[in-house]
Amino acid sequence: MSTVSFADLKLAPEILKALTESGYTTPTPIQEQAIPLVLEGHDLMAGAQTGTGKTAAFALPMLQKLLPHASSSTSPARHPVRALILVPTRELAIQVEASVKAYAKHSKLRSLVVFGGVDIKTQTPHLKNGVEILVATPGRLLDHIEQKTVQLGTVQMLVLDEADRMLDMGFMPALKRILALLPRQRQSLMFSATFSDEIKKLSEDFMNYPTLIEVARSNASAENIAQKVYLVGHEDKHALLTQLLRGDDAKQVIVFTKTKLTASRLSKQLQREGVAADAIHGDKTQSERIQALDAFKQGKISVLIATDVAARGLDIDSLPMVINYEIPHAAEDYVHRIGRTGRAGASGTAISLVSPDEERYLQDIEKLINKEIKRETLPALAKPPRPPRAEQQEHHREFHKPQPQKPSHDQWFDKPYVPNMAHAIAASEPEKPESKPKAQIPALFRKPG
Ligand code: AMP
Repeated sequence: MSTVSFADLKLAPEILKALTESGYTTPTPIQEQAIPLVLEGHDLMAGAQTGTGKTAAFALPMLQKLLPHASSSTSPARHPVRALILVPTRELAIQVEASVKAYAKHSKLRSLVVFGGVDIKTQTPHLKNGVEILVATPGRLLDHIEQKTVQLGTVQMLVLDEADRMLDMGFMPALKRILALLPRQRQSLMFSATFSDEIKKLSEDFMNYPTLIEVARSNASAENIAQKVYLVGHEDKHALLTQLLRGDDAKQVIVFTKTKLTASRLSKQLQREGVAADAIHGDKTQSERIQALDAFKQGKISVLIATDVAARGLDIDSLPMVINYEIPHAAEDYVHRIGRTGRAGASGTAISLVSPDEERYLQDIEKLINKEIKRETLPALAKPPRPPRAEQQEHHREFHKPQPQKPSHDQWFDKPYVPNMAHAIAASEPEKPESKPKAQIPALFRKPG
């Protein structure tokens, strides 16, 4: 446990007050390392993932540096964009801006979030009023740039958050266009869970001798997350899941699936069985996703079924349990998934249901986290409830019929999971393509010497 306090990090009283009100007592390791470096004006390349407190690690020193520019004037000219925070997804954008707002609440600094999937006209008046801190997804920011509703010539600080995800999602061209519009004289910070050659190249292109810092891959090795595996056939996964969901520790659970098809089916099936469940995935609209997430946060639904794309960046405090209904094929995604639980010191459980064909991916995961995950004994499973007659036929068609399957009524269900890149790029907000299995275990960086 750190003995350093936020006051030791020389943060201003109005920021310290907001932190106390947020319930933060001590800085997390990434905050302890990053805050002094950013205050000193260094460019920073930080290896840290969601759950480590990385948002405050860049937002706090950013606010501190912008405080002298805070103005109570209503004139837009007194509120130029001074800090730009680029993030890969809408959900992360919303969360990051909410954090910035909370930390800035006792200052006159203004922040705003812009992302795609909503009418751009609703964002323009707010932009025109002037904001010091702009959180944006790259596609929508480019839309605003094209419409001349934002000027980036005054940006003095840039943050690329979850940079690896941005590249995975094909944002490199958009990033390059945006970076070309920023003043050369600025401070740049990059946060990424992994550092591929592409990421290093990006940092060479847009950063100025960055200091490298990293925090342990805390989620993967976190002592406070109990990781368990059930080796179970496909046909028994659902029965096992419902049994696990009945457990006392399963009051609020995120269930991960690999495809949006499974997410959607599973959610409907659980709803039919009386479980308060909902699904979030790339085919849901932004407002549907926010609605489902809010309902989950408020406890109106107890099970949120999510794909990796949709779950990226979700910040849900003290989530007790994560279940991997299907394990991810990219070991990195496993680390992101289980990082939804056991946050900021709370304990959590991460259970993976692994069918024989998934065992090789389990091996990759264990290699990445350098740890063998405990195999649990499969409990006696109740037979699934007999579906009503009409559904029996449906069920029979689905599971026992010779291939190829007859198309279902709703063609959506017949589509395989393909990231809708063409559509997404057109809408300027691509979803993440399915993760490619990563061949290499990412190297960790040394602390600054
Ligand atoms: P992040 O890694 O930025 O997504 O933050 C993960 C979670 O930790 C968020 O819910 C933050 O509100 C919380 N958090 C960040 N810094 C601290 C801190 N110093 N003390 C307690 N909680 C924190």
